[in-house]
Amino acid sequence: MSISSVIKDIKGRLDGKVAIITGAGSGIGFESAILFAREGAYVVAADINLKSAEAVIERIKEKFPLNVLRRSVAYKVDVSKEEEVKKLVEFTLKEFGKLNIMFNNAGIMHPHDDNCLNTDEKVWDLTMNINLKGVWYGCKYAIEAMRKNTDPKGGSIINTASFVGLMGAATPQLAYTASKGAVIALSRELAVTHARENIRVNSLCPGPLRTPLLMDFLNTDEKKNRRLVHLPIGRFGEPVEQAQAALFLASDESSYVTGTEFKVDGGLTAAYVTPE
Ligand code: NAD
Repeated sequence: MSISSVIKDIKGRLDGKVAIITGAGSGIGFESAILFAREGAYVVAADINLKSAEAVIERIKEKFPLNVLRRSVAYKVDVSKEEEVKKLVEFTLKEFGKLNIMFNNAGIMHPHDDNCLNTDEKVWDLTMNINLKGVWYGCKYAIEAMRKNTDPKGGSIINTASFVGLMGAATPQLAYTASKGAVIALSRELAVTHARENIRVNSLCPGPLRTPLLMDFLNTDEKKNRRLVHLPIGRFGEPVEQAQAALFLASDESSYVTGTEFKVDGGLTAAYVTPE
């Protein structure tokens, strides 16, 4: 039996789909790249840090050595630069001929992001440029590409927001919170606008996770415990738990899901008081 006939028999949940994942070099993006590849997608792992994007491709090759027909590639992009995002989508179309899934996941949490009075305009602008404009650019060029898809028509766009887009925190990071609230609003509107084109748009709202983005910031037990007490499940989330949700939103299993704020937050946004 040839390798290609074996592979033909393995039908993954994203079989033959082409996916771009931004921020693929770490955390949620890294785990999603591996899961999407496992499920049969061609993955373009895009990150501002090319080395980390290349590392995820290496990991995919190690984990799925038989998956020779489903090539995945690394790509360097700064999502805050419109021209670079445009080129990322053009590269994907040239390389793979179509785009089915756009996971706009790259984001930052700036160490000097603070409250209303103390947040510097430079921090505000940088955060908005990456977290919000980056998502807008990703949607813009993905929608253009997905409109050309025929079989299957349309596509799935997933934009990583956050629970802080849905609830206030007395540990403020104002620019981050505002950027994520805007991602939710933008995603909802795009979902409605493009629904008849079979382009689904959902925002993923993670709770606090054990990834470098948050753990670098919560660098003492006191800071960690200040948050843990509010989590019904009693622990921080793992990036792979977000990747599983992104996989569902990317796949045809979620064909009737659009315009949602898909919360994967350990019950955080549902809680008034939590178990002792
Ligand atoms: P992470 O820091 O582990 O990974 C983020 C990746 O994005 C990194 O590889 C980084 O190099 C890349 N990146 C940063 N700026 C970029 C740019 N301008 N262009 C392209 N790539 C860039 O973070 P994570 O925890 O996996 O977070 C992923 C997403 O989830 C972010 O949007 C974040 O805001 C969101 N989120 C995270 C948490 C959490 O607790 N970690 C909670 C809610 C939402």
